[in-house]
Amino acid sequence: MQRNLLRASNFQLLQKRFFKKYHVRVRFAPSPTGHLHLGGLRTALYNYLFARSNKGTFLLRIEDTDQTRVVPGAIEKLQDDLLWAGIIPDEDPTRGGPTGPYVQSARLELYKEQVLKLLNNESAYYCFCTETRLNLLRKEAIKCGQIPKYDNRCRHFNKDKVKEMLRKNSSYCIRFKLSSTPESFNDLVYGDVLHDISKTEGDPVIVKSDGYPTYHFANVIDDHFMEISHVLRGIEWQVSTPKHIMLYKAFGWDPPIYGHLPLILNADGTKLSKRQGDIKVESFRKQGIFPLALLNYVIGAGGGFYKEQQNQDLYSYQQLIKKFDISKLKMSSGKLMPEKLLEFNKLEIANLLRNEKNHKFLIERVKKLVLEAFSERKNDGSLQLDDYHIISTLKWSQNRISTLNDLVKEELAFLWIVPASVPNIEQAGCSDAIKLLNAELGEIDESNYKTDWMIMYLKNFAEKNKIPFAALMKILRSVLSGLKAGPPVAEMMEILGKDRTLLRLQRCVS
Ligand code: GLU
Repeated sequence: MQRNLLRASNFQLLQKRFFKKYHVRVRFAPSPTGHLHLGGLRTALYNYLFARSNKGTFLLRIEDTDQTRVVPGAIEKLQDDLLWAGIIPDEDPTRGGPTGPYVQSARLELYKEQVLKLLNNESAYYCFCTETRLNLLRKEAIKCGQIPKYDNRCRHFNKDKVKEMLRKNSSYCIRFKLSSTPESFNDLVYGDVLHDISKTEGDPVIVKSDGYPTYHFANVIDDHFMEISHVLRGIEWQVSTPKHIMLYKAFGWDPPIYGHLPLILNADGTKLSKRQGDIKVESFRKQGIFPLALLNYVIGAGGGFYKEQQNQDLYSYQQLIKKFDISKLKMSSGKLMPEKLLEFNKLEIANLLRNEKNHKFLIERVKKLVLEAFSERKNDGSLQLDDYHIISTLKWSQNRISTLNDLVKEELAFLWIVPASVPNIEQAGCSDAIKLLNAELGEIDESNYKTDWMIMYLKNFAEKNKIPFAALMKILRSVLSGLKAGPPVAEMMEILGKDRTLLRLQRCVS
C-alpha cells in the first residue's frame, strides 16, 4: 500500500516535471517476426491509452534490424491486427509522420552517422574478435561455472592498432563501453530499479559486422530522434534499460521515462508461449471475438485502470481511455481469465445489436459466415439470408451464443438451411397429424407465429387430436431442425416464421 502511494506520488512528481516540458509521445515498436500476440497487443494498447489520455501522440515503429528474423508480410499483418483492434497510430510506416521513416531498415544512414559520435567521444570502439574467439570464451566460462560474457579485450587496443586492423580490412563490429557504475532508474510501474549489468554482460555490440545496428542501439537512437517521452514496454526489457540509459548519457541526451509492463500469464500461472496458437490476435479474430472483448480480456490481467472492472463491465474505447491510470498497474504478473473472454464477447454482441447503426455490419458478418459454412448450398437458393431474418435471429440467439461463429454450429444450422434429412412421418405414426397441422398452420396469420401463442396452440392441437404433446414436439423438432434436442419448438417456429415453417412441414407431407 505504502509502496503504491509512493509510486503514485513519484509519478505525479515526474508527471509535473516532465509533462510541462514535453508533449507525450509514445511508441509501439514490434519486430516483424511473426504474428501479433496478446503480450504485444497489451503493450500497444497501453501505449495507445497513455497517449490518448494525455492528449499525446502514439506511433508505430517497426524494428527490423535483425533481418534474419524478418517474416515477409508480417508488417502488413501487424498493422492490420492493430487496425482491427482499434489501436490506430498517429504516425506509422503507412501514414508517415514528422519523425519518419518508421521502419528501422530505412534509417540505416542515421545509425551510421550516430555511431561515429560514440566512436569519436570514445564511448564505443571497434572490436575485431572472431566468432571462434568468442565461442571459445563462452565455452571456457561455462566450463568454469561463470557467466559467459565478452572480456572487453578490444576496448584496450590503442589507436594505431585499430588503424592497422582497419587498413587490413579486418572484419569488425562496434561495441559500446558499459559503465561499471550501475545505472538506476525510476520505473513508472516498479519504482526504483537497479540492475548492475556489467556484472552479467561484456560490452554490447551496437553495430554488427554486416553494418546493421543491434536492437539496443537503433532503439535508443530512434526513441531520441522520434522524441519519445515515455517508453512503456514488456518487463522482459527492464534489464536492458540501464544499458539504454548509458547510451543516452554517452550521447549527452536526456533519456525518456521508462515503465515496464508485468508479464501476462495463462490462467494456471504458466507462461504464455508464442508457440501456442491461441495467443495470436489472429486466432481470436478467427474465433469470432470482437476487438473490444479482446481488449477488455487483456486488461483483466494486470490492471492499470482507476476503477477495477466489475462483473458486467465491458469498457468502451472512451471508457478505456478515461479510466486508464498507469499508476494503477500491478507489479505482479497478471493471469488471463479465459472464462471472461466469451462473457465479454456476449456483452459486445448485445451492445452492437442495441444500436441500429451496427446492423449493416452485423448482417454482412453473418452472411459471410453462413456462406462459408454452408458453401455447398450457396447456389441452390435455399440459404435463408434476408436482413430481417438475420437481425431477428441474432436478437433471439443472443443468450445462446458467445460468438457469431456459434450461429453456424450444428445446433443452430437450422436457422440458415433446410435440414438435410426429411423425417419419415409415416414410420413415426404421425402422418395424419402432421398433414393436419400443416393445413391448419397454413391458415394461421403470420402475426400469431409467436412463442407464447404457438405453445398454447400446439398444446391444444395435441389434445384435440389425441397425440401425446411430447411426441408431437419430438417429430416437429426433427422436421424443423433435423435435431433430436435443441431450442423449444415454438421458439423455432417464431424465429423461422410462417413461410419457412410451412416449407419444412411440406417437405415431409409430400
Ligand atoms: N523490438 C522490441 C520488441 O519487439 C521493442 C522493445 C521496446 O519496446 O523497446 O519487443
